[in-house]
Amino acid sequence: MATFLFDKIIFGPVRSRRLGVSLGVNLLPNDAKICNFDCIYCECGWTTGATSSKLPARTQVRESMQKRFQQMRANDDALDVITFAGNGEPTIHPHFAEIIDDTIALRNEYFPHARIAVLSNSTMLHKPPVVEALKRVDQNILKLDSGFDATIQLLNQPKKPITVRQIIDHLKQFDGNFTLQTLFVRGTYNGKPVDNATPRELERWIEIVDELQPKDVMVYTIARDTPIDTLKKVPQAELESIAERVRALGIPVQVSC
Ligand code: SF4
Repeated sequence: MATFLFDKIIFGPVRSRRLGVSLGVNLLPNDAKICNFDCIYCECGWTTGATSSKLPARTQVRESMQKRFQQMRANDDALDVITFAGNGEPTIHPHFAEIIDDTIALRNEYFPHARIAVLSNSTMLHKPPVVEALKRVDQNILKLDSGFDATIQLLNQPKKPITVRQIIDHLKQFDGNFTLQTLFVRGTYNGKPVDNATPRELERWIEIVDELQPKDVMVYTIARDTPIDTLKKVPQAELESIAERVRALGIPVQVSC
């Protein structure tokens, strides 16, 4: 199906269904996806691993961002949030931490009221500089799609072995100061059923939410084309009932469909 890649370092601003008016930052190549997951629902398509494309240098990111901020300020454009997302996993960039520091400095100079958000798949939290950088941003949005290793294998297809327990232990480094994001989806993949919103899945997921006590939770489902056409959205009513269970723990939750 028609997945897509961002063709710039800085893209937008766009109105994000979850974050508001968002200027995107892509720390991955402009013509290839690089990720240590290969989620079957990824809007960027499959992780092929076959790229000779380079990651943008720290100076390139800083200069592109400054230029865009200057244009936006000259146009009196609004900006709610600067969002690190793009063609894969942003925390893979070897200078992720320094780029976050540059972004904080530029944000303070040009758009002091804008938030900085990072959407990450939680796989690089064994690296202290990544964790420390994520602690410095305003919205640290970290993925956990299931409480079961077998579901993570099927849904996220990690490139290196990682367990749910390792992810949970890494997430605990934030003492609850993060947003937990979970994408719910169902369908089939290679003839196998996939559904991370079954009663068994939800029971375990809620236990983990309770254990982690994140400051808030984002639940959502697929919204655009995915690499396979055998996946379906989880209906809004089901997402709302999942959200109710999170609210019952006293944790705010945002639902996006
Ligand atoms: S973690 Fe994000 S970028 Fe990586 S494969 Fe999954 S959805 Fe795509």
